[in-house]
Order: sequence, then structure tokens, then C-alpha cells
Amino acid sequence: MATYIVLLGPPGVGKGTQSGMLARKIGLVHISSGDLFRENIKNQTELGKLAKSFIDKGELVPDDVTIAMIRERISKPDCKNGAILDGFPRTPVQADALKKTLAEFSGQVKAVYITAEEAVLIERTSGRWLCRKQGHVYHEKFNLPKQAGVCDVDGSELYQRDDDKKETVANRIRVYFEQTLPLVEHYRQIGGLIEINGAQDVEQVTKDLLSALKR
Ligand code: ADP
Ligand code: AMP
Repeated sequence: MATYIVLLGPPGVGKGTQSGMLARKIGLVHISSGDLFRENIKNQTELGKLAKSFIDKGELVPDDVTIAMIRERISKPDCKNGAILDGFPRTPVQADALKKTLAEFSGQVKAVYITAEEAVLIERTSGRWLCRKQGHVYHEKFNLPKQAGVCDVDGSELYQRDDDKKETVANRIRVYFEQTLPLVEHYRQIGGLIEINGAQDVEQVTKDLLSALKR
């Protein structure tokens, strides 16, 4: 049965970083709703224009367009054995839509909740740098590129996200507590929720994740 690993957790906790590590180790595709929106913004699509108006404020993009975007992405052939879903679902409506979509594909969900306290999230988001081409993620203290300002993988320029500004991060954390945290409880009640301490270094978080997923 295809397995879809859902990574839940607050902004900056390391979902994207760990998704990349997991994708390499277990060979599943990494799908990030935030990356898909940023790609649409870069390409100036209608979806990108709509998403930007929410992302800039640190609000969630409406469920209907987010669900349609993810449904389209996971119906592609490279997701037939499963995928790592990073940042989706983020609301109970999205979780319900995912459940229905995966029932069509005979897929199962494994939910992982990565946590860290707010000071860690602020330090991580304020030092985050992304590459323009493919969104590879770096940190100015914890994960430096070999050459300053340049992506190790594809050589493209690194930039800081507008929504990683302190005020916007504060709103994203508030939105996370209000709209996404209830999902954690939902997955805990269903059973099998994996909980990981995201305040450790990247390698230790990956080790914990891999061993929990094997169980
Ligand atoms: P998320 O996808 O949850 O928003 P990211 O994976 O983009 O988070 O990580 C946020 C920032 O923190 C990035 O700059 C990343 O390099 C850094 N980072 C991720 N995991 C760790 C960690 N375990 N220790 C230190 N820095 C980390
Ligand atoms: P991320 O890259 O996961 O930090 O997401 C960046 C921004 O994209 C979020 O602050 C939201 O505005 C938007 N976004 C990403 N994923 C979702 C989602 N599943 N539902 C609604 N909005 C989302």
C-alpha cells in the first residue's frame, strides 16, 4: 500500500529540511505546499497572485485552492508509491480532503509531529535562506552553504523569504496554533501519531524520524 508521510509542525521547525533527508533515504517524493505556492508566485500564475496575498500576511491560503493544487500534484505518476507531504494538511478541512483523495488511491497516512519551542522557531526562520531555483534550504548559523549566497546543489542565488520577517512569523505561529494544532489532536486520536523533538540537530532529528517510521 502506498504510504503518504504527513509532516506536521510549526513554521521553522524543520519540516522541509527533514523532508529532503527522508526523500533521499527512503526514496519518496517530497511535496511541499509552500514550495508549490512559491513556484506559482515566481511564475506569476493566477494561483500565485492569489496565494501571495495570503502568504505575505502570514495567513493560510484558502482550503479550496490549496486542496486542488495538492490533489493535482499527488495524482502524478511519481506519487503512486506514496509521498512526503510537507505543510499539507494544515486545517481539518484539508485533512478530510486528503483522507478522501488517498482512499481513491488506496493510500495510507503516517502522521509525524515535529515540535520545538517558539524561541527555536524564531531563530530558525530569521536565519533561513532559500535557493531561487529549487528552494533548497540553508541557515546562516546552522546550515551554511559552501560559498556564501550560493546554493551548493544548483548554484543559484540564495534569498530570504519575505514572510520570514519577525512580524509575519509571529502571525504564522499564531495561525498555526489556531488552525493547524487541532489536526495534531485529530491524528493522535486516530492513533499512530509519531512525535519527534525538533529542537535537536538535523542529523539527530533524522535518526529519530527514521527509527520511528520503521517501528
Ligand atoms: P519548516 O519547513 O518547518 O518551515 P525548515 O526545514 O525550512 O522548516 O527549517 C527552518 C530553518 O531552520 C532553515 O534555515 C533550516 O536550515 C534550519 N534548520 C532546520 N532543522 C534544523 C535543526 N534541526 N537544527 C538547526 N537548524 C535547523
Ligand atoms: P511554508 O513554506 O510551509 O512555510 O508555507 C508558506 C506559506 O504558504 C504559509 O504561511 C501559507 O500562507 C501558505 N501555505 C503553505 N501550505 C499551506 C496549506 N496547506 N494551507 C494553506 N496555506 C498554506
